[in-house]
Amino acid sequence: MALVTTTKMFEKAFAGGYAIGAFNINNMEIIQAVVEAAQKQNSAVILQVSKSALTYAHPKYLRAMVEAAVAETGLDIALHLDHGPDLETCKLCIENGFTSVMFDGSHYDYEENIVKTKEVVDYAHAHGVVVEAELGKLAGIEDDVQVDAANATFTDPDQALDFVQRTGVDSLAIAIGTSHGAYKFKGEAKLDFDRLESITSKLEAAGIHNYPIVLHGASAVDQNCVAMCNEFGGEIAGAKGIPTEMLRKASSMAVCKINMDTDIRLAMTAAIRKSFAEKPAAFDPRGYLGDARKMIADMIESKITDVIGSTDSMK
Ligand SMILES: [Zn+2]
Repeated sequence: MALVTTTKMFEKAFAGGYAIGAFNINNMEIIQAVVEAAQKQNSAVILQVSKSALTYAHPKYLRAMVEAAVAETGLDIALHLDHGPDLETCKLCIENGFTSVMFDGSHYDYEENIVKTKEVVDYAHAHGVVVEAELGKLAGIEDDVQVDAANATFTDPDQALDFVQRTGVDSLAIAIGTSHGAYKFKGEAKLDFDRLESITSKLEAAGIHNYPIVLHGASAVDQNCVAMCNEFGGEIAGAKGIPTEMLRKASSMAVCKINMDTDIRLAMTAAIRKSFAEKPAAFDPRGYLGDARKMIADMIESKITDVIGSTDSMK
């Protein structure tokens, strides 16, 4: 029982044809909800923090709460920086006990992304921390990351191989059609599984076996949850996520880490809106935050059992 890196988790996930859920955390209730669900399913889990979440909650608070979660549950938990913008932020997280960092250099040109990623990899590896990088650009908006659809580009398989070889990065986030935020598709949902397959084949052919791929922007945007927000005063129109079957298929392939943030935000908001509407006289935060925690925990548990398949990954 400890805070761990993702290395063993990903080895087991690749071999077992499932993925580990990476859930964005901002406060105590979200952390408790995620680990309660993971504990029920005996599943390893990744708790991740974006730069704006670091600003909101402060790294020391987050680390202390995550360590409490490890002590309380006995689960393998990785504490991960999501979309680290620079070496400085990665260093701050490593100093604060994070076991994994992402450096997102996807907005730089290719060669510059390689140089900057390599710099983070060298520093992190010297401190026993693993690194995720990103190649290709996802559309959408989430926290500090914003890319419009016209500037989104899918990951090139030859570049993916070259990038992994030259940076030594431990896992790679790719763009195959997912996007950040709650509005992922205007028409039919479509993920480029051939591209994912091709990336894995090229890595395998070069002797890089069982290489873990990461899928960002992979919330399902449950329509019941959106409807619940709207029923109780919300105005969330046209939100659309990644269909469950597609996430399950990706998990059975080389995708070992699936990021979900929007689904947590929606569940929390839906539960709080409902609680406010149904109990207008109540004003104890433990009431509505407790409802939110319960709704997030139920949602995460169904992700583990029905979507990513990481049940019993602690075995
Ligand atoms: Zn992301």
